[in-house]
Amino acid sequence: MDGTSTPNSAPVLILLGPPGAGKGTQARLLEEKHGLVQLSTGDLLRSAVAAGTEAGKAAKAVMEAGDLVSDEIVIAILRDRLAEADCARGVILDGFPRTTVQAEALDTLLVETGQKINAAISLEVDDASMVTRISGRFTCGGCGEGYHDSFKPTDKPGICDACGGTDMKRRADDNAATVAQRLAAYHAQTAPLIDHYQGKGALSRIPAMGAIDEIAAALDSVVSKTTA
Ligand code: AMP
Repeated sequence: MDGTSTPNSAPVLILLGPPGAGKGTQARLLEEKHGLVQLSTGDLLRSAVAAGTEAGKAAKAVMEAGDLVSDEIVIAILRDRLAEADCARGVILDGFPRTTVQAEALDTLLVETGQKINAAISLEVDDASMVTRISGRFTCGGCGEGYHDSFKPTDKPGICDACGGTDMKRRADDNAATVAQRLAAYHAQTAPLIDHYQGKGALSRIPAMGAIDEIAAALDSVVSKTTA
């Protein structure tokens, strides 16, 4: 691309917040409601690890330690995914950008596609609760529905309410020691992006310690306003 593409109104939304803030849960709800594509760099990296690609091999140990994968790898993965046809509907970025370098790379990519950032939404939570939130979570391997041992158990033990699947997965990095490092990485490298997007006039803050549907309603109103 040559940087002279025509304006493109497909929305770009960014979800910011520490691990456990509910970015993935809320991105999935927004995807269903607004027809946008959830783009999680964590999911893309986990797929790369599972597939044993070069990027996956480089990322595996870093992810297990709770550190951030290199900007170079993450930006390349995101660029490739954004170029796929479904992203033309608009995207919710879940877990990207996580550094200032990534935020700048995103700006450059969006100049190429003629898009702009509609909103960067910060899910505001108490750090102290995040370890409990993360330690209890699991996902249906069949359909991706998320659950939590205490806050959102399945109706029948071990069976997905959404698809009836029984292949429940827990992430390797959802343990107390790794979560502490993931929170530290968030505060050192990602939290400064809140000021970055505030400075651009794109930031919305949403209190995110309450019920999933209340947070979803607050998000929905920001998304409806900023993509109108
Ligand atoms: P998440 O699923 O968003 O919690 O991400 C899981 C892990 O993947 C993180 O702890 C990082 O190791 C890695 N990761 C995901 N997104 C990024 C990113 N934008 N930049 C660097 N590392 C990332």
